[in-house]
Amino acid sequence: MKQWGAAVFCLMVLFSVAQAWTARQGGSFILSVPSAEGATAGSVVFLGKSETLFPDGNGLKTVLGVPCELKPGKYPLSLRLTGPNGLNEQRLGTVVIGRTRFPTVSFWLKPAKKKLLKRDLIGEEWALIEKVLAQEEPVQLWVGKFLRPASGEVSMAFGTQEYVNRKKRGQHRGFDIAVPIGTRIKAANNGTVVFAQKLTAFGGTIVIDHGQGVHTLYFHLSKFLATVGQAVNKGDVIALSGNSGISSGPHLHWGLSVHNLRVDPNQWTKHAF
Ligand SMILES: [Zn+2]
Repeated sequence: MKQWGAAVFCLMVLFSVAQAWTARQGGSFILSVPSAEGATAGSVVFLGKSETLFPDGNGLKTVLGVPCELKPGKYPLSLRLTGPNGLNEQRLGTVVIGRTRFPTVSFWLKPAKKKLLKRDLIGEEWALIEKVLAQEEPVQLWVGKFLRPASGEVSMAFGTQEYVNRKKRGQHRGFDIAVPIGTRIKAANNGTVVFAQKLTAFGGTIVIDHGQGVHTLYFHLSKFLATVGQAVNKGDVIALSGNSGISSGPHLHWGLSVHNLRVDPNQWTKHAF
């Protein structure tokens, strides 16, 4: 009986050491620790960044994102768990990153829009937005799957390699939906509006905080129908769409940020994180 106990214990150790997760370029994945493991606090280090695990029901959880430009392969993940009775354990795991086939798109910006395509201006405005993305509300506000903020043709998928006026630019960090100016834009999930400003490069911009480091972004808006500090529910109308900022035609640029990293929002409409 004792030998069986030892064998089971060894298997458990092997299992915890060999823990593995799978994800794709530009995708998100859940990291959770069931309450049965006895940890009451924890953190995870992945791709050189440390994130706190949030209480979730009786266990701990956080969602992690994968940069779209990260090469497919195996990457280490380190979990630190602490709890009562002196629990202080480090676990090592592996995240297997699969390839995503990102499309390539060429489009043309008219001179009035092209002149907004300046690295300094974009950098300054990103710094403003990233200040709110860096704020992590520990309570999960989102419920279930996210909804698409507007229905319309997908004019540019996440991760698309962009060529603007024949020049190679970066990969697209959002999900574009072609809609006429003035289309009602809905909150993709429950949360709090934490940013609503008319920017030069991104146009009318709203950011919703969904808690636990998850935010959604809405660019090129023509009118705000929600204010900073307002609590919104999934499906509430927050703005009207537009063509403001660097935009080649009327559309909504919808972004999703996980711990200040832009990932594919479309995955969140298919899977409840
Ligand atoms: Zn876009």
